Amino acid sequence: MNFVTRFAPSPTGCLHLGHALSALTACDAAKSAGGRFLLRIEDIDQGRSRAEFEAAILYDLAWLGLAWEVPVRRQSEHMAAYAEPLQSLIERGLVYRCFRTRREVAEAIASAPHGQAEEVFTGEALPAEEEAQRLAAGDTYAWRLSLKKARAALGPAYFALVFEDETGLVRAEPERHGDVVLARKDFGTSYHLASVWDDALQGVTHVIRGDDLREAAHLHVLLQKLLSLPQPVYRHHRLVLGEDGKRLAKRDQSATLRALREAGKMPADVRAMVGL
Ligand code: GLU
Repeated sequence: MNFVTRFAPSPTGCLHLGHALSALTACDAAKSAGGRFLLRIEDIDQGRSRAEFEAAILYDLAWLGLAWEVPVRRQSEHMAAYAEPLQSLIERGLVYRCFRTRREVAEAIASAPHGQAEEVFTGEALPAEEEAQRLAAGDTYAWRLSLKKARAALGPAYFALVFEDETGLVRAEPERHGDVVLARKDFGTSYHLASVWDDALQGVTHVIRGDDLREAAHLHVLLQKLLSLPQPVYRHHRLVLGEDGKRLAKRDQSATLRALREAGKMPADVRAMVGL
């Protein structure tokens, strides 16, 4: 069976136990399936990504005993590649320019009629003349996916969208996300677009990641459908909780692999700590 999975960290901090569980789960799954394990550095946000965090990630993963294929795909080296899917969505009118600031988006969500399961943003393109004026004025914008247009483009296939995860077959509900930003003004793409595009490009058959990204699958399968990309199988694992019972965040320094190593822990201890 063709089995390709990946671990795709963003080098915006040090790896902690939660990342270790993701990386180990994915690598173990590839090993037992006789498949391939890839590492991808998701560093499109150059304002937050740091070379020293990337180096620390590679060091931590090697220390854990993981082996991955080289070369490692570093997204910042392929920024031009993400223009292709964006352009395709633009040409088909499936995305629109959104000139709203973060605050205006928050206000629009707050004043939207309630009754939706999630508080999400939906909008639409400005009238052509107004848009032209804003562009001429040099106003910045982000490209947002239009769920309304996506639904219209796919017809009944929109409602038949499903994906497989560890619970079985799940009906995709992209509306949980609203009209998401697919290309930010500052870096021309987004996590969602770049990640989905790269998974397809790299032939990833199994996306294995934490429960915190469970919701993302609902959107990612829609993007795959709109871009005619193959759909991987999804597997979500439980999150590692800190001493306060909350999920670990990059700021939890005591749970970083580096801190644990410096405190004398061994890779086998890390495995035990994450319940493997
Ligand atoms: N880069 C993402 C993160 O660090 C993970 C993306 C993914 O696994 O799809 O949270």
